[in-house]
Amino acid sequence: MSEEVLSADIVVIGAGIAGLSVAYHAVRRGYSVVVLDRGLSGTTQSATGLIAPRSDYLLEDLPLVAESASACLLLQKLFPDLIRMTPFVIPIGPNMPYPRRVIEGLIAYYEMLTSRMLARPPYQFISGTHLSDLEPALRPGYFTGAFVVHELAVDAAMLLGVLRRNISGAGAAIVPVGPVFEAHVGGRTVQALHVTGSRTGTMIKIRGRSRPLSIVNATGPWLAETARQFGIDLDIRLYRGTQMLVPGVPFRNNIISFSPDDGKYVIHLRHGQTLQVGPTNIAAGSHPIGGYDRREIEYLRNALRELTGKTIPGYEHAKVGWRVKLPGGIDRNRPVFWHHAKDGITNLHSFHPGKLSLALAGASELLNLMSNKHAGRIFSIDGHDPGNRQTYYGVRLASGIRTGAHVLKFLISGKA
Ligand SMILES: Cc1cc2nc3c(=O)[nH]c(=O)nc-3n(C[C@H](O)[C@H](O)[C@H](O)COP(=O)(O)OP(=O)(O)OC[C@H]3O[C@@H](n4cnc5c(N)ncnc54)[C@H](O)[C@@H]3O)c2cc1C
Repeated sequence: MSEEVLSADIVVIGAGIAGLSVAYHAVRRGYSVVVLDRGLSGTTQSATGLIAPRSDYLLEDLPLVAESASACLLLQKLFPDLIRMTPFVIPIGPNMPYPRRVIEGLIAYYEMLTSRMLARPPYQFISGTHLSDLEPALRPGYFTGAFVVHELAVDAAMLLGVLRRNISGAGAAIVPVGPVFEAHVGGRTVQALHVTGSRTGTMIKIRGRSRPLSIVNATGPWLAETARQFGIDLDIRLYRGTQMLVPGVPFRNNIISFSPDDGKYVIHLRHGQTLQVGPTNIAAGSHPIGGYDRREIEYLRNALRELTGKTIPGYEHAKVGWRVKLPGGIDRNRPVFWHHAKDGITNLHSFHPGKLSLALAGASELLNLMSNKHAGRIFSIDGHDPGNRQTYYGVRLASGIRTGAHVLKFLISGKA
């Protein structure tokens, strides 16, 4: 087998949004970077594509909603051609799981917190008649009106493409590799990584340039599988998210609805000649194996039937992604990092971005931590810290109380 020797400061394993964000910041800080990727269809490829602080997180993690707005603004400034303010219509009616005034209180609070940073048209309420003119494919007479809100949206696959070109242009190597690598560990440090190039079959040996390598495991749902190759057990849980792709687009706008099965939001997003409906959210163990199941498609078809009053004859395709959660089902959507010095290897970190908009901000924070710079605001979570569970419930309670108080004030006074 032919051999190639590479030297680098940082090896990033995984070229989803997390790995590419680490590489993006690292090359700009003057590090020599090699990104290894298996070419799997990762979570980023299946993401809905909202680059948003997200009003539905107000009850879970209110400080993060405000902090995310500046991360979203940064992304919009970096990639103005890709990330755009997009209207979403939220139809409401007597069969909705939440009353109009409660939804409006949440939207008003959300805009108050985030609109100073993200320039967006204010939300609007439109009547049932106006809604039928705007969206003739909606079930006639079923909805009494709708909110029209604006969020930043992106085609996540295109964002990955732009990041790849940007990173390669700045001198980083992105190398397609096979699934297995050998980590050569001396003491508590990985001295070299040996991996097989998947296109060339070449054995690639990567060593530190002037100091020991720094390695970042950014392999999304494969985080635990990758950590195991370093002899480390990473305790994470996966939730499967399926998006159904339906040929033809019945709607003129993107629509957010509430599932008739469990009241959860479902996003109906126009993608060229296709409507993407999803995502689902199903506990799926700790390994990203298998595909979607029939019940998920039924759930998404029900959501579309609720909107149009008609059963769609078929769907073209469905794509699956896996959300990473900490044990106990904790889903803060904050970036999570693990420094594996705690597991016996000092030059290995694992990183999960939480949500798309926080990948670049989280990656920058990770690089600060890796170089022992603790300056700047720390909003990531330490995946090793068992106190996170406690902190999570504390934040959740405080967020719920603050948001609830606002909504109550809104209900009583009729204004935000
Ligand atoms: C259905 C769904 C919808 C979502 N929608 C949104 C949304 O609208 N907005 C939002 O902000 N967030 C959303 N999220 C969350 C967001 O998509 C994820 O947090 C993010 O994409 C995770 O990115 P990642 O880079 O960590 O993982 P991935 O994108 O999965 O990338 C992992 C990479 O690792 C590589 N890899 C794996 N093993 C190896 C190995 N041994 N060697 C080399 N490479 C390897 C794979 O090839 C892959 O490229 C959604 C999540 C899901 C599941």
